Amino acid sequence: MTFPPSPLVGRFAPSPTGAMHLGNARTALLAWLHSRALGGQHLLRFEDLDSGRVRPWAYDVTRRDLEWLGLDWDAESRQSGRLDVYAAALARLTRAGETYPCTCTRREVLEAIQDSAGAPHGAEPVYPGTCRARPSDPQRPAATRWKVPDQTVCAHDSLTGETLCQHLLREVGDFVLQRNDAVFAYHLAVVVDDALTGVTDVVRGADLWPATPRQVALQWTLGFATPRYLHVPLLTDFRGERLAKRGGAPSVQALREAGEAPGRVLAALARSLGWDVPGAVQAAELLPLWRGHLSAAGFLPKSQT
Ligand code: GLU
Repeated sequence: MTFPPSPLVGRFAPSPTGAMHLGNARTALLAWLHSRALGGQHLLRFEDLDSGRVRPWAYDVTRRDLEWLGLDWDAESRQSGRLDVYAAALARLTRAGETYPCTCTRREVLEAIQDSAGAPHGAEPVYPGTCRARPSDPQRPAATRWKVPDQTVCAHDSLTGETLCQHLLREVGDFVLQRNDAVFAYHLAVVVDDALTGVTDVVRGADLWPATPRQVALQWTLGFATPRYLHVPLLTDFRGERLAKRGGAPSVQALREAGEAPGRVLAALARSLGWDVPGAVQAAELLPLWRGHLSAAGFLPKSQT
């Protein structure tokens, strides 16, 4: 019997807000290696709900970058084409009395946080639930917030072995599922998409690890299975700061157009993970290294590497 049980479905979910930089490319590589090393399907999902941030050219550039690196996919979707699916999930929560409209402005929310006993917790301000009890103002556009469970929810990472538990009401607060400009929030869309497209394994950047318990809680409430999570470290620059599309990090497109060889870029990405590879490699040559990495992490029995 193989482990994990097939069929495995993995995905890479870029936001088409700019050109992929090397950090995005490394996450894309690892997500692809995971799907393919374990004989799974691999999905490409453009997370493009926030139309104000989307750059229309970025879809095509991302596809070309992935193809250039030799990272293929079996199916492609765009969140902007699936609004009815998110609306249906939100309607289910609303019918169950799980949501409430909220017309607080950002400033009012911040003031409420300052006034509340539960002042900001850690890096993230906790919404104190002001609109839960207060009727919303029909004159203003309303966001929809989720009444998060008053309990501790834990997420497990299958790669790092870490478990992260958060008391959602105290540490996160009721979060927005649909903004007041009707844009569905990332947490709702990602949970709905992963579930409805049969994703079993989520390989993504470690920046999303702190948000995982709230996604797990949404899965429970919507009756969805929780996929396996594997968070991978973000690539940092020489100062140790994570690369950002806005920060002028080298884009894959620039390297591609400058005539760089994709094998050298893949080799550099593999070396940044501490893997010992020659100066140029093909993506498929890295499959055994990822399997080895999974075995070392205890994800895969040693016999399968
Ligand atoms: N779209 C997110 C990003 O580009 C990734 C979301 C996810 O993998 O869950 O950072």
